[in-house]
Amino acid sequence: MRAPGVWNREMVEFIFCPSTATQILALPIPLHGGEDVLFWPGSVDGFYTAKLGYDFVSSMTAANTAGSSSSTPPLGNSLWKKLWSRYGLPRCKEFSWRICRSFVPVRSALARRGMAVDLICPLCGIEEETIKHLWLCCPASRSVFFAIPLALRLERFVSLPDFLHQFLAVASADAIAEWQTAAYVLWEARNKLVFEGRPFSCDAVVRRTLQLVQRPSSAQVSRQPGIVLETVWRRPEEGMIKVNVDASFKSATDSGSGLIARDSEGQVLAAAASYPVVASSPVLAEAWALRWAIILALELGFRRVCFETDCLLLFQRWQKPPDGVSYLMSILRECLSFRRFFDVMTLSFVRRSGNSVADLLARRASTYAGLVWVEEVPSEALPFVSADYLAFMPVQV
Ligand SMILES: [Zn+2]
Repeated sequence: MRAPGVWNREMVEFIFCPSTATQILALPIPLHGGEDVLFWPGSVDGFYTAKLGYDFVSSMTAANTAGSSSSTPPLGNSLWKKLWSRYGLPRCKEFSWRICRSFVPVRSALARRGMAVDLICPLCGIEEETIKHLWLCCPASRSVFFAIPLALRLERFVSLPDFLHQFLAVASADAIAEWQTAAYVLWEARNKLVFEGRPFSCDAVVRRTLQLVQRPSSAQVSRQPGIVLETVWRRPEEGMIKVNVDASFKSATDSGSGLIARDSEGQVLAAAASYPVVASSPVLAEAWALRWAIILALELGFRRVCFETDCLLLFQRWQKPPDGVSYLMSILRECLSFRRFFDVMTLSFVRRSGNSVADLLARRASTYAGLVWVEEVPSEALPFVSADYLAFMPVQV
């Protein structure tokens, strides 16, 4: 007899190739069964609109048109539009457009225009400085793009268009803003090295990127009804446990989740990480992370819990579930169905700055896969826990 809610591993592995089987087996099975339903894959939460349908078909057409050639297809309209997302500084967006259009005066471009310049990349001193080298291949820039919260692994991509296609197709608006900002700051640091002789520092580029990355403005978020704009972690009410949860989305098969549970004194009750999470979009990864956090909280015996996410869309869908079927809503409905096992179960929203411990554990989930810490956190998370703690403690005189 096979246990309910468990994949028939032998059959899946017999029918599908190894990579597909791995993806299928990593999908959680709904605990309460239910009919199979088809969802629209072209939107972040599974809901269909005519505009999304048009964008989806346009991008498929662009990909198919170029499919006969060996080169990567040009960016479709919908991907171009994503470069102009609502987050990020205008100068960073404009600069990323110049990278995509090859309008950046790197040394190889200047040489093509007849200027007598040293062709070697000033950052690594190894290869010719081209746009592809500077924003994809240079060891210095790879360190930068891996060190930012996105943790991009550029060595996986064969060309800049290949990276842009894969990244823009799945990245959220704030992830795109983060890449655009890092690309801009990298060029800024390169120019300071070339023209002012200031040494290049990966740490400095990452720090400045994080300073410049703009999250949704206070005005944007506070206009949402019922949402309290929190930018720092707040302890829960007496008798409640707050579980901060987050997901880190890198690709459909490379995402992780992290959580931390604290009481009203700010004391850590538990922390955990889960990897891999199979999800086709960041918001679905966040939804799976919430479902995982709810089940783990039940297993740990927590009964009065405030879960907290930094995913605004997930929070909005939770607050006001729309009609109709979608993959996101099927996960959220299952989350809501667990309410009966809790005395109190709520979901609140906090900006990413107030969700830093869960964010760190999610980003490091592949290292900590499946670990649960009771009344402690891994040492690298301690500074974030302390910062949260100090944020609400009264200043001692
Ligand atoms: Zn280089």
